[in-house]
Amino acid sequence: MLNIVLFGPPGAGKGTQSEKLIEKYGLIHLSTGDLLRNEIAKQTPLGLEAKQLMDKGDLVGDSIVIGMIESKLDSNPDANGFIFDGFPRTQAQAIALDDLLQKKGTAISAMLALEVDNEELIKRLLLRGKESGRPDDQNESIIRNRVNEYNTKTLPLKNFYSEQSKFHSIDGIGSINQIFNDLVQRIIFVKAEIELTNLENDIEHLDLTINDFEVATEISEELKQDIEEVRKSEAKQKPQAKKVVEKIATKKVVKVNSVSKTKKSLPVKKIVSKKAVTKKTTKPAAKKQIVSQ
Ligand code: AMP
Repeated sequence: MLNIVLFGPPGAGKGTQSEKLIEKYGLIHLSTGDLLRNEIAKQTPLGLEAKQLMDKGDLVGDSIVIGMIESKLDSNPDANGFIFDGFPRTQAQAIALDDLLQKKGTAISAMLALEVDNEELIKRLLLRGKESGRPDDQNESIIRNRVNEYNTKTLPLKNFYSEQSKFHSIDGIGSINQIFNDLVQRIIFVKAEIELTNLENDIEHLDLTINDFEVATEISEELKQDIEEVRKSEAKQKPQAKKVVEKIATKKVVKVNSVSKTKKSLPVKKIVSKKAVTKKTTKPAAKKQIVSQ
């Protein structure tokens, strides 16, 4: 599963980029801002309570947004993955999200942060306010309060995800397509990390032939070195880090293709025997039920 936290201050372009990422990766979009605006439009008690805070540019209570996210996760059990947009916004939300995903046997794959400076944000939001009519985008002091809420309560989440080696910074100033391209490069890199973990797991737990073991080990070693190279360049904030990511992302596509090919040829025996077991134990009545669902 690919679970992305798309991070950034209000006006960084999270909504626009989410739409493009959803289209490309078939992910489910979970925007707490959209969910709250929906509650306001339906005039539910929750919506009315949230509106008072949103109109001032204050954050809504953690338990409200965590509850919303939980019910959305529960109602999409077969998703390929999720894009969290505008959530988490506090450390309590980030911890709750980790717990919710862990219960589902998954985790956040990466936080992708769109970085835009404050004055550019305020300009963008005032323009959006004129175009969309969103009340919290129309008044400069409310906007400044939202940016302030972000800087004090949400920005510390960079550390939360950095500590888990999941934080990735992306320049949020540029054309929509250029920023999207940077996000895609990052996701390729994140997928390489996930692939490496899976591969190392397979090497440890599958009963491989010597030949398959050697191929899988060689690929995982190379992938590991590439990933470390990117991490080191980034830690030193080398200007060429972005170029290195691009190079590795391109190399990685080739590698992951060959890994998946290798993997396909590895556990054939297991798949066959698993099928045989399923065949034996699945009763005809149960089968019928599955088909009609
Ligand atoms: P957004 O559309 O993400 O900019 O959110 C608009 C407003 O909804 C914010 O200014 C907050 O008042 C509220 N909101 C959205 N998401 C959250 C969240 N995760 N935690 C608390 N408040 C939120």
